[in-house]
Amino acid sequence: MVNGESVKFDIRGMLPEELRELLHEAGEKPYRAAQVFGWIQDKAVQSFSEMKNAGDKVSDFLAKRTQLQPLKLVRERISSDGTRKYLWALQDKSLIETVLMRHGGDKTRNRNTLCLSTQVGCGMGCSFCATGTLGFIRNLEAGEIVAQVLDVTRQRAAEEEGFKVHNLVYMGMGEPLLNLSAVLKSIKILNNSAGQNIGIRRITVSTCGLAPQIEQLAEEELDIVLAVSLHAPTNDLRDRMMPVNRRYPLERLLAACRRYIEKTGRRVTFEYALIKGLNDSPAQAKELAALLAGLKANVNLIPINTHANNTFKRPHPAGVQGFLRLLQNQGLHAVIREEKGGDIEAACGQLAGKER
Ligand code: SAH
Ligand code: SF4
Repeated sequence: MVNGESVKFDIRGMLPEELRELLHEAGEKPYRAAQVFGWIQDKAVQSFSEMKNAGDKVSDFLAKRTQLQPLKLVRERISSDGTRKYLWALQDKSLIETVLMRHGGDKTRNRNTLCLSTQVGCGMGCSFCATGTLGFIRNLEAGEIVAQVLDVTRQRAAEEEGFKVHNLVYMGMGEPLLNLSAVLKSIKILNNSAGQNIGIRRITVSTCGLAPQIEQLAEEELDIVLAVSLHAPTNDLRDRMMPVNRRYPLERLLAACRRYIEKTGRRVTFEYALIKGLNDSPAQAKELAALLAGLKANVNLIPINTHANNTFKRPHPAGVQGFLRLLQNQGLHAVIREEKGGDIEAACGQLAGKER
């Protein structure tokens, strides 16, 4: 309660059943809630007055009890490869970033992937990541996660008829598993067939390796893709690159991944950012292959991206290929990840949520 007025729900973070319950208070039938959910989540309206058939009574009630405020676009940058990076201001003026990547030139098969932020900043302190330099500021609400999809879709659809986001990767700013309830709620909303209807298997959640939360996620038995940021094949090296490893060393992390695979039957994706002279030697490729032997795993190799606070270098392309072949020769499913948006600091680990 603020000044005797109740705190308003963020309507973009409400599930259909929550809308039903709220509108029931106003004496409205369930079909009304379904209609409102469609306006908010499918049509991505940015004000109550856009909900044409909802009626004044419902609009007025919702305006009193909920809020619907689009994210404020502070800056948009467009890469030479078509990637777009959005810098948004939230209501408390916190800044977050969202990245839209386009795959495939053919219009009918155009695959749009949106990279979502889940926290303002991040407290995990990985040595190679720009977001980590901000420290943890706060968790995003479910509605603020959903809003990134709705506002990008709305903006693109104004220029590209029928624009749709096909894939979601929770790989923007922040550690999603430290904001698990809001992340799970946003997934339920965005997967709902009356809303954005994004396929559950087209949703990836990436973690730096919080073992207990991976086990908790396994219990949800969701058909999403779990990605784990590994980046080193030994505890000694990983301790230095990622402080989280001192809490959950590789044995503990991989046990959680095994549990996840057992429970969901899905492959786990391991991200490995290649850094020249640090984790890119042939011996380390063999150690990595041995570490993941027998696990249902995909490995994504990402040549490290640089930013103002990191001086790491990428291996020579031939070195990257060599590392890849060594993994494949040991029977691992491994690929080199296509990099997008490096020229606008939109690539992995470059999101600092800052206006330059
Ligand atoms: N916090 C989560 C998700 C956001 S980071 C996580 O760490 O998994 C998204 C991905 O970018 C992670 O795999 C992360 O390890 C990777 N990354 C961070 N900094 C990077 C950099 N400079 N170059 C390449 N990848 C980087
Ligand atoms: Fe946080 Fe992920 Fe960056 Fe590590 S890599 S600091 S966990 S956002």
